[in-house]
Amino acid sequence: MASKTKASEALKVVARCRPLSRKEEAAGHEQILTMDVKLGQVTLRNPRAAPGELPKTFTFDAVYDPSSKQADLYDETVRPLVDSVLQGFNGTVFAYGQTGTGKTYTMQGTWVEPELRGVIPNAFEHIFTHISRSQNQQYLVRASYLEIYQEEIRDLLSKEPGKRLELKETLRRVVYIRLSSFVTKNRGPKEARFNLSLSTMGNVNGALAGNRSTHPYRDSKLTRLLQDSLGRNAKTIMVATLGPASHSYDESLSTLRFANRAK
Ligand code: ADP
Repeated sequence: MASKTKASEALKVVARCRPLSRKEEAAGHEQILTMDVKLGQVTLRNPRAAPGELPKTFTFDAVYDPSSKQADLYDETVRPLVDSVLQGFNGTVFAYGQTGTGKTYTMQGTWVEPELRGVIPNAFEHIFTHISRSQNQQYLVRASYLEIYQEEIRDLLSKEPGKRLELKETLRRVVYIRLSSFVTKNRGPKEARFNLSLSTMGNVNGALAGNRSTHPYRDSKLTRLLQDSLGRNAKTIMVATLGPASHSYDESLSTLRFANRAK
């Protein structure tokens, strides 16, 4: 069994900003978000700033600016976590952010063009390459894909797309959901078609790591679902996705505050 994870390694929070879209450029929206990749900082300027109001700066484990590549995020941030999973840790990567800020792009990307592949296909390749090289060992790989949107959980692999899922709890307080999943043994990557984002916008109240009071994970579906990911022998990466334009100021600020509090 893997050894206990240090708190600093257990939860990594990174921020990623997508480029200004053509529509935003055409509409003349100004860019109010800047990133300092070296310092891991995001600075957000209020387009309706009161006199003397300074831009707000937030520091993360890493930041990925609009020029960042899918491989930058995978190789620097996700690959070490998947390596840990292959050694026996629990690992979770999830994206959090306003609709249209790049959760699907980050998690899924474009499957046909290798350099545009997101976290999920890159992790599949990583895991199945590892499996194909190992000998005298059997692996069980399960995958599920779901989104939490306004406190409702939807199974993105279900044949009934609108179907909602309930969180259930065993007598020993292990939280689980019944999901459609696919299972494979010692086989190559499956063609899997995912069509929606792992979006975790919604009413998330509890801080992920800091707030471990009596019932710390009860506040929201997200924190309850993640309780195993935030416990011992577990590592979690939260990718806070952001848009750069002035019209997203309120949502960007709320995402940055949530991401900052999670750490
Ligand atoms: P969400 O899943 O959060 O609703 P999407 O992933 O669908 O958002 O992204 C919205 C749009 O922005 C898409 O057209 C997507 O291709 C584009 N986009 C998002 N992130 C990036 C990025 N890092 N680089 C280039 N385009 C991006």
